[in-house]
Amino acid sequence: MRGAVIHAPGDIRLETLDDPKILHPTDAIIRTAVTCVCGSDLWPYRGAEPTGAAHPMGHEYVGFVEEVGSEVTSVKPGQFVVGSFATSDNTCANCRNGFPSSCLNREFMSTCQADYVRIPNAQGTLVATGDIPDRRLWPGLLAVSDVMGTGWWAADAAEVEPGSTVVVVGDGAVGLCAVIAAKEMGAQQIIAMSRHEPRQRLARRFGATDIVTERGEEGVSRIKELTGGIGADSVLECVGTPEATRQALHSARPGGNVGFVGVPHDVTVDGQELFFSHVGLRGGPAPVRRYLPDLIDRVLTGAIDPGEVFDLTLPLDQVAEGYRAMDERRAIKALLQP
Ligand SMILES: [Zn+2]
Repeated sequence: MRGAVIHAPGDIRLETLDDPKILHPTDAIIRTAVTCVCGSDLWPYRGAEPTGAAHPMGHEYVGFVEEVGSEVTSVKPGQFVVGSFATSDNTCANCRNGFPSSCLNREFMSTCQADYVRIPNAQGTLVATGDIPDRRLWPGLLAVSDVMGTGWWAADAAEVEPGSTVVVVGDGAVGLCAVIAAKEMGAQQIIAMSRHEPRQRLARRFGATDIVTERGEEGVSRIKELTGGIGADSVLECVGTPEATRQALHSARPGGNVGFVGVPHDVTVDGQELFFSHVGLRGGPAPVRRYLPDLIDRVLTGAIDPGEVFDLTLPLDQVAEGYRAMDERRAIKALLQP
């Protein structure tokens, strides 16, 4: 089969790899329907994380079950399935507490930009749709497996509720999906921080009521102007840089909450400042599996269409161009068709 391999920063190649096989009775093999490049794939691509030895890439997937191990009874060959970037057994204490992305048997997916993928913990991880969904819905379902689930977690962690004022820091695919989540949870004001016009338009279409282009202390002043002088109830940090984290912490009102879902890089938090801010802070890898049944339903019924974050569609053999376009911010998110 074909699969994307990173050799060094900036060097992604589509190569011929061995077909994946069932290694454990809890595995399944799926044939990829569509996959994509994630904003977090850009960290190693840009050399911000060491790439080490050449290795496969990709952690977002929807597909058709090809084969299941002897202990997998919840899905069967031929079904269309959606999963999560973090696999989970759905039975351990952390899963039962609602944090499947901290499953005691967790394995992170890392080989999904390929024709076929082995899914560990398939019984707990994969959710089958009733029928084979219309092709138009595949991008939205693919978004649910990572960026939409992560945007939802940002809003959930920041305790967005009906009537909330919300700030979204970051206008990548996760930030845009966080706007969708805030809207669905009933926020009355959703302020998207973005300087990029096509992304501002999409944020508005997804439910943003205001756009703030300023950054840093100017950005904080603008947020305060828009929120009665005190800051927002909920701030959704969807980037992971020190600047974005500072922006998020300073944009929340005393007693407000920050959900941080951008993977932090060189981020430190000042304990004294946090103490006196009265701001609640929660983040981490999104517990996507907990949200899957609900989010799949919202996509299938047309309540939400997070598939709109894909503004570039390429055949899998042009995966390198997908990375380049996202790195150069020519694309929000690249969809790959095997
Ligand atoms: Zn578990």
